[in-house]
Amino acid sequence: MSALFAKRTSEPEICTICARAHDGLGYGKPVSGKFLWVCLECAPIAKRIEFMKQKDIDHYERVAISTAAQKIVQGVVTEVLEAVFRDGVTDLNTLQPEQFDMLCERMAVEGRMIEHGKEFLLAYAAEMHGQVSRGDAPF
Ligand SMILES: [Zn+2]
Repeated sequence: MSALFAKRTSEPEICTICARAHDGLGYGKPVSGKFLWVCLECAPIAKRIEFMKQKDIDHYERVAISTAAQKIVQGVVTEVLEAVFRDGVTDLNTLQPEQFDMLCERMAVEGRMIEHGKEFLLAYAAEMHGQVSRGDAPF
């Protein structure tokens, strides 16, 4: 019988469901030595994916990536356009590729892209967790 265990591992595992840090929780059969690593938030729903087919998990992942991308794209585009305008460009036809590259590099140095990456990861994790919790049809 599968169960949830507090486990220690020296491997850098991630949560099987949401891809965030696993919090040292393993779900599975103790005698098998194989566990699904899960985070605290996903632990209560780990049982739902124990026998899930890889193609179904892949579908959940595609939906989660698409949903997360949709959630962050407006913020990223808005921030890039604001940086372009702050740089004095009011007509995008005059924006030079080197100028755009420099603005993107500046945003990366300022950590704005890291913030957008975090937003993406959190949105992805929430969507994966939601699909598994709700038992969404994987098609
Ligand atoms: Zn998780």
